[in-house]
Amino acid sequence: MPPLSMKRSAIDLEEMASGLNKRKMIQHAVFKELVKLVDPGVKAWTPTKGKQNVIMFVGLQGSGKTTTCSKLAYYYQRKGWKTCLICADTFRAGAFDQLKQNATKARIPFYGSYTEMDPVIIASEGVEKFKNENFEIIIVDTSGRHKQEDSLFEEMLQVANAIQPDNIVYVMDASIGQACEAQAKAFKDKVDVASVIVTKLDGHAKGGGALSAVAATKSPIIFIGTGEHIDDFEPFKTQPFISKLLGMGDIEGLIDKVNELKLDDNEALIEKLKHGQFTLRDMYEQFQNIMKMGPFSQILGMIPGFGTDFMSKGNEQESMARLKKLMTIMDSMNDQELDSTDGAKVFSKQPGRIQRVARGSGVSTRDVQELLTQYTKFAQMVKKMGGIKGLFKGGDMSKNVSQSQMAKLNQQIAKMMDPRVLHHMGGMAGLQSMMRQFQQGAAGNMKGMMGFNNM
Ligand code: GDP
Ligand code: MG
Repeated sequence: MPPLSMKRSAIDLEEMASGLNKRKMIQHAVFKELVKLVDPGVKAWTPTKGKQNVIMFVGLQGSGKTTTCSKLAYYYQRKGWKTCLICADTFRAGAFDQLKQNATKARIPFYGSYTEMDPVIIASEGVEKFKNENFEIIIVDTSGRHKQEDSLFEEMLQVANAIQPDNIVYVMDASIGQACEAQAKAFKDKVDVASVIVTKLDGHAKGGGALSAVAATKSPIIFIGTGEHIDDFEPFKTQPFISKLLGMGDIEGLIDKVNELKLDDNEALIEKLKHGQFTLRDMYEQFQNIMKMGPFSQILGMIPGFGTDFMSKGNEQESMARLKKLMTIMDSMNDQELDSTDGAKVFSKQPGRIQRVARGSGVSTRDVQELLTQYTKFAQMVKKMGGIKGLFKGGDMSKNVSQSQMAKLNQQIAKMMDPRVLHHMGGMAGLQSMMRQFQQGAAGNMKGMMGFNNM
């Protein structure tokens, strides 16, 4: 058996002795390390009530600054703060109109100019005006460029020097690639960034770059943007963010719920699930199951890909309505489509089918396509879990699943992780070696890893 010394650092032996099962422990260890990575070790800046708090936004063009300014203003306004917006972006045509439109819609006082071209003058005038009027949250939007350029940074610095903000927020698009660390650092080097907001977490991006931004700016993430709408905005919470980053939804919870679904009533389905097969009809039947089960939003929220779509918006009723709509669409499908083990492919091969189903169910072709996308995600998930025998049997799943099967599940976590996150773990010997073993997945390594149980 390989030496186990490295694992001890990441996995607390006391915890082990307390009899937590191994899979939970490993997940927990991975979690804890990632949580550490998003914690810069400094307290997040918060505004002071009754004071004039000036918040300046910086970031690349298109990162979501103007949208996020409005979201933050709206957030504080709803909490009863006297809030306003200033547009100091004179670079992009239409920038003022964009902010004005957002502000007007949300009834937030704003300041800007169509004629003044100097952002320093606009920012200073706006801040002075609103300070005199005793506004508590004064948010200043600035311009961005496609990439960091000296002129942008010079302008940004001048604005910051002129208005002396209490907090500078760096806005980062979750989908930016490898460059995020260098970009965040360039901003931090020029002005005193104290907070990070990550936008566009509603899309496919998992936000691994956020870890880099935190590291580069030594600033905490304070909010996340989850859509284009003004209330698609949430205070940053570490745990859900990390689970999204790991791309695993709440696998633990999902497994429990799947067990609760009493799938053992349905031998045929279990047989299929065991082989990782999942048809549109199976999905239909699951939806029926779920609707019977009562508070199903919890379950949907745990399925990767369904979570943000169903959970962030609206309430149970709305989710119910969406689920019904999906079922209506499937009602217009024929047996061949419903029973194929690769339902999405049947449609992509003959796109005319999409039109037929859309017409039949009175929805747009986009709706049908979205359903197929969700089905694909669901089917992939089943495929991953299907390889693990016993997972879908009733009762206590830990009794049904062997050590090597648990290892396989852990392996999935590693595979689903953002490679950048793995990269970041370089400094953490224990975790890194653990993750490497997951990735290699060699039987010997796995046995070794599981061997720590016997120490
Ligand atoms: P700026 O150039 O940094 O001011 O960026 P904008 O605020 O103009 O945003 C650029 C684009 O990103 C716009 O189309 C926004 O609607 C969009 N956007 C901003 N935040 C989010 C978000 O959290 N989710 C999504 N899906 N889109 C966003
Ligand atoms: Mg803008």
